[in-house]
Amino acid sequence: MSLANGRAYLAIPGPSVMPEEVLRAMNRSAPNIYEGELVEMTAGLIPDLRDVARTRGRVAIYICNGHGTWEAALANTLAPGERVLVPATGRFGHGWAEVARCQGIEVEMLDFGKRAAVDLGRVEAALRADTGHAIRAVLATHVDTSTSVRNDIRGLRDVLDATGHPALLMADCIASLACDRFEMDAWGVDVTVAASQKGLMVPPGLGFVWFSEKAAEARRRLGPIPRYWDWTQRAEPEMFYQYFGGTAPTHHLYGLRAALDLIRDEGMEAIWDRHETLARAIWAACETWGTDGPLEMNVTDPALRSHAVTALRIGAPHGSALRQWVQDNAGVTLGIGLGMAEPGDPAWHGFFRIGHMGHVNAHMILGALGAIEAGLVALNIPHGTGGLSRAATAIAQGVSRP
Ligand SMILES: *Cc1c(COP(=O)(O)O)cnc(C)c1O
Repeated sequence: MSLANGRAYLAIPGPSVMPEEVLRAMNRSAPNIYEGELVEMTAGLIPDLRDVARTRGRVAIYICNGHGTWEAALANTLAPGERVLVPATGRFGHGWAEVARCQGIEVEMLDFGKRAAVDLGRVEAALRADTGHAIRAVLATHVDTSTSVRNDIRGLRDVLDATGHPALLMADCIASLACDRFEMDAWGVDVTVAASQKGLMVPPGLGFVWFSEKAAEARRRLGPIPRYWDWTQRAEPEMFYQYFGGTAPTHHLYGLRAALDLIRDEGMEAIWDRHETLARAIWAACETWGTDGPLEMNVTDPALRSHAVTALRIGAPHGSALRQWVQDNAGVTLGIGLGMAEPGDPAWHGFFRIGHMGHVNAHMILGALGAIEAGLVALNIPHGTGGLSRAATAIAQGVSRP
């Protein structure tokens, strides 16, 4: 017998759960892209997008996924042959570096492995060693979704300032935006990238690049760049089509409008609190299960953990077996381990991730955790007892916090 029928929960770290409001907003006939309602609505998205990233800077919208925004950020600020510093804490840091290399950009990599945050001391040493200021930008991943490590973006700004280094600070917030606290202007970030399908709760297909005046200056220095990626007109269009370099992503924009309404109604501070409390419930359960048996948090220090995604180690073949069990029997789909082992390696089956970004609440998280505990029992995977009740306590404590 399976108990999977009923509403499914896609608990992978993106695409995330879509609110009914977003789906309903998208369920409509095609709008006119030359005048009228869609044109007016789009202009109104811009201030709300700025608010989500906490910036007064500009924003360009692309019809692309997160990978596209990586390319857009680089194409607007760096010429081939120029250098970037990439402090990587997982698969996505390396991914952005790879995109840079393919654009002819020289990459200086600082690899912090799969379980640690960026060591600001090593970044500082690399910046001080760069006496000629060849490094044009630091490409940081706020939350690396593969490891669930959360990095100190503010700390990177402080290091740039302390060393008097003029490099741009770029932040990949694709996993973290509208989940983990992020303050683009207050933290001195020059370029922020995000995509629609994670904390923003819209289907994959929209990419966003926010940029500071200093980054706009870097763009002007370059001269012509590939037309599609150029953020100049997108951020300050004279004609509607220039927002998108062509036809508007009509239905995604309606979905985004609905999502930004939800975000505005709840408030960024409340959204960050909700994600933190739900993350603490997950950690409480996982740490308790891990007191006996093979389950282990990938990131041991809670201060370095994301509030949007949790990466876990459980040993092969338990990771894959557990994912399969909860999907088949409880209607919860967990994320695969990413970048932890090569796909052909038996060790690949020893990892999983819980996505808890965007449109998630207490009953969804408690339900997912209950399904995981049932899976641990059903598969005879040793684990400490009482995980669920510790999670419930964390929820109760979070709600009663002032
Ligand atoms: C999801 C993600 C990406 C990649 O986004 P795609 O939409 O899959 O291209 C990049 N960086 C981070 C941190 C992510 O979470």
